[in-house]
Amino acid sequence: MATNSDDEVRVEKPKTSVAGMPAIRHALQYAAVEMGVTRGVKTLLAMNQTSGFDCPGCAWPDPKVGDRSHAEFCENGAKATSWEATRDRAGREFFAAHSVSELLEEDSHSLEHHGRLTEPMYLAPGEDHYVPITWDEAFELIADRLRALPDPNRAAFYTSGRASNEAAFVYQLLARRLGTNNLPDCSNMCHESSGSALNETIGVGKGTVDLDDITDHAELIVIVGQNPGTNHPRMLTALEQAKQRGARIVSVNPLLEAGLVRFKNPQSVRGLIGSGTKLTDRSLPVRVNGDLALFAGVNKVLLAREDAEPGTIFDHDFIETYCDGFDEACRAWRSLQWSEIESQSGLTREELEHFASDVVAAKSVVVCWAMGITQHRNAVATIREIVNFLLLRGNIGRPGAGPSPIRGHSNVQGDRTMGIWERMPDAFLDKLRDEFGFEPPRDHGYDTVNTIRAMRDGAIDVFFALGGNFVAATPDTAVTEAAMKNCALTVHVATKLNRSHLCHGREALLLPCLGRTERDVQAGGDQFVSVEDSMSIVHSSKGRLAPGSELLRSEVSIVAGLGRTLFGEDIGWSEMANDYRVIRGHIERVVDGFENFEERVREPGGFTLPRGPHDSRTFTTASGKARFTVNEPDAINVPEGHLVLQTLRSHDQFNTTVYGLDDRYRGIKGGRRVVFVNADDLSARGLHDGDLVDLVSVWSDGERYAKGFRAVAYETPRGCAATYFPEANVLVPLDSTALASNTPTSKSVIIRIEPAT
Ligand code: SF4
Repeated sequence: MATNSDDEVRVEKPKTSVAGMPAIRHALQYAAVEMGVTRGVKTLLAMNQTSGFDCPGCAWPDPKVGDRSHAEFCENGAKATSWEATRDRAGREFFAAHSVSELLEEDSHSLEHHGRLTEPMYLAPGEDHYVPITWDEAFELIADRLRALPDPNRAAFYTSGRASNEAAFVYQLLARRLGTNNLPDCSNMCHESSGSALNETIGVGKGTVDLDDITDHAELIVIVGQNPGTNHPRMLTALEQAKQRGARIVSVNPLLEAGLVRFKNPQSVRGLIGSGTKLTDRSLPVRVNGDLALFAGVNKVLLAREDAEPGTIFDHDFIETYCDGFDEACRAWRSLQWSEIESQSGLTREELEHFASDVVAAKSVVVCWAMGITQHRNAVATIREIVNFLLLRGNIGRPGAGPSPIRGHSNVQGDRTMGIWERMPDAFLDKLRDEFGFEPPRDHGYDTVNTIRAMRDGAIDVFFALGGNFVAATPDTAVTEAAMKNCALTVHVATKLNRSHLCHGREALLLPCLGRTERDVQAGGDQFVSVEDSMSIVHSSKGRLAPGSELLRSEVSIVAGLGRTLFGEDIGWSEMANDYRVIRGHIERVVDGFENFEERVREPGGFTLPRGPHDSRTFTTASGKARFTVNEPDAINVPEGHLVLQTLRSHDQFNTTVYGLDDRYRGIKGGRRVVFVNADDLSARGLHDGDLVDLVSVWSDGERYAKGFRAVAYETPRGCAATYFPEANVLVPLDSTALASNTPTSKSVIIRIEPAT
């Protein structure tokens, strides 16, 4: 079986533009190989169309109805779809031929490459082969183990961001009906910090920006800790539109990513045969974890200019009417020292002065960010400081302005809206009680990190995952894999085999489900589901392909089937599974903003959820006002001789799914065990570009090793390094998490680099 051979890795010059013809070629190659040419083209043309299915990739919003092209997808969306709709199958013969121990030797790429799961599979205690099991037997087995728990809190229900709104709603209902709020999700590991900071400061844990704020209105777009060229590629089309009407773009990133330099739009002649569009006007190569100092620094500059010419910089009407905490924040900025700001951000005062001039010249500013901001110890403080930055000039609640955290998985935002959270507020739980007639648990449950701790400590017996690849997505791989093996039963609802299915509990189940591309027919007829994108638009998604196997079930059907087995028809589990309109009726009555859900979600393009700050400058914080906060810059302390490492994705990757071994925009071909380091940092250690090195992370409980990486001299600030996850997750200590959000600090890991042993 194929494994990832990193001896073959080749390093070329990083690209200075993205997309163009190569993106089309790669997209079509993937589609042809995995789906076949005719089926592939037909499928891709239905993607992100009003009557088609939602891309299973990222959560970037679709253009308005009427503005969509016939090919409304990017290279990576095409890969995600092709990967799901592959013709390859991993059925009972495959599992009979390959033991779990044998499969554990394979990497993520080759595991998923075996194809779609076709029927429920069971791994009995002490056995090394999964064997077929019927759906009814599988439900009975899970129900039996759950009923036997002395406490429902000994079960945990994990959700990946692919689950539809309908599946997520029924899933949280199942967990709470059982009596637990243990609902860890992938959001705990990505935008929990954004939710935490935004809820506290503006009263809503989501972005407040619409797509046309970016394409049509913003005069300045600041992109921080985000690499849209790989992670949200259609965002580049929106940025190109913004550039064409004269907007400026400032990129804040320790790596100069090709996607932010120049975009060759594959849907335009200029993009295909011309030089494309230059995107970034100003690049700020911030030191890893220096973003808080950067925003505090620019806020200090703005304050100094306001002091010099009162009334010319700040939006005092907005601040006085809508905000509190302004005076305390100003005091804090006044006392900041430039030496601290410069050393922590890695940028000069002059660079921040120039940035401030961009800000002052712009009537409206949007700030977009992603994991480069959220996965640090001080992530919540950094996002609060970004909110300060926006509030100072009234850049919330008017066209072209606001915070825009960009979500990584297609429905991660919707799942949270549906109640997938270990800490849902009482108002939601009250409505759930009133709708279903049972008392939901009120104690907070485990988030992702606390679930791993609980599994490690023997406090979880049953781990149920609705999608995802838990052990690859989470930190501290060795600890997490051991924790998973500590469970009595692990259950995974999945489309394809991954490592989490092999790091199993004493017994394990694999429950194969329909993908987004597939038709979902239930007793009540053809079904569609709904999702919510990064900009709070809820819309429908309907697959058209024949299911990969007649034994596949939808996620809704699986969850409701388990509910029925556990509880009978107490709250109408079968009704929900037979006709998703029943679920949407429940959602309408339980979740705020879903009035007339059925009617509105059937409108082409769907509808936008209310966001008080955006719609009416309403801030539902404790004080009823948007809050300025004081956020002391406190960049991570890197001991002499060490570097601060961020983990990131390659271009041939979506979250934990690895489509191939190239990262062509960064010049990497044929391997993934590479570490990007400033050339001077290599020299200072007696190392050279191309050397084989080991990475050693340093934490209070000891050292962690990731061995055998190729050092790549790369343009990044001194003291910084970067490498791919999930390979590097082994270096991220479980207990190293963001303050307030408990998000793993995967973007700031203290490491040493040593010659390979
Ligand atoms: S930008 Fe995101 S949602 Fe759009 S096609 Fe690409 S991966 Fe899919």
